[in-house]
Amino acid sequence: MQIYLASGNAHKVTELQALARATALPVEIFSARVIGGMPDVVEDAGTFAGNARKKARALWSRVPAGAWALADDSGLCVDALAGAPGVESAYYAGPQGDGAANLAKLVAALRDVPAAQRGAHFVCVLWLCGPDGREQMFEGRCDGGLRAEPRGGAGFGYDPLFVPAGHSASFAELGDAVKSTLSHRARAWSRLAEWVRAGGR
Ligand code: IMP
Repeated sequence: MQIYLASGNAHKVTELQALARATALPVEIFSARVIGGMPDVVEDAGTFAGNARKKARALWSRVPAGAWALADDSGLCVDALAGAPGVESAYYAGPQGDGAANLAKLVAALRDVPAAQRGAHFVCVLWLCGPDGREQMFEGRCDGGLRAEPRGGAGFGYDPLFVPAGHSASFAELGDAVKSTLSHRARAWSRLAEWVRAGGR
């Protein structure tokens, strides 16, 4: 099974490739770069699933015969902000999609929120489009809370603020080895892996 990743986000591609290796699935994973890059997609569906589907279908029209396209749409939902930034996570601080600015805006938005009310969760929807037009969705969620200040150097996006449930360090402090066992992306991937192992049914 050959899978082309419908993402221009190098961090997501690296994480998904590592997850594929760790689950020892009989799949080959390629970046969209090797087939000319990810086509421009307006992520305006309003849901993780809707945006993931748009991205997967946009790349699917370009993959070689017999291959699959896989998109990841993900984001951080903050309890004290009624679920924001959610599907807008990449563009929270503006259309340029600046990760550092997004992080700074979130720190500022939560400045007066007490520790007990700093709950949040990450969501990841993986959308797979297959050679015969088949489509399949897998979802993963990771609950946790948010630090007052960013800490740690690993990962990307909101990782320096997010402390997964059961831990006292952020994803960015815990590093990729730990993140890959419990993240929203890892959980969605493990559902995809079960589906592939069951023969894609
Ligand atoms: P998307 O590319 O529209 O799916 O937006 C994903 C955005 O959600 C990223 O740019 C990050 O801001 C955030 N995000 C998703 N997954 C993660 C993660 O694993 N760590 C940190 N931030 C994430």
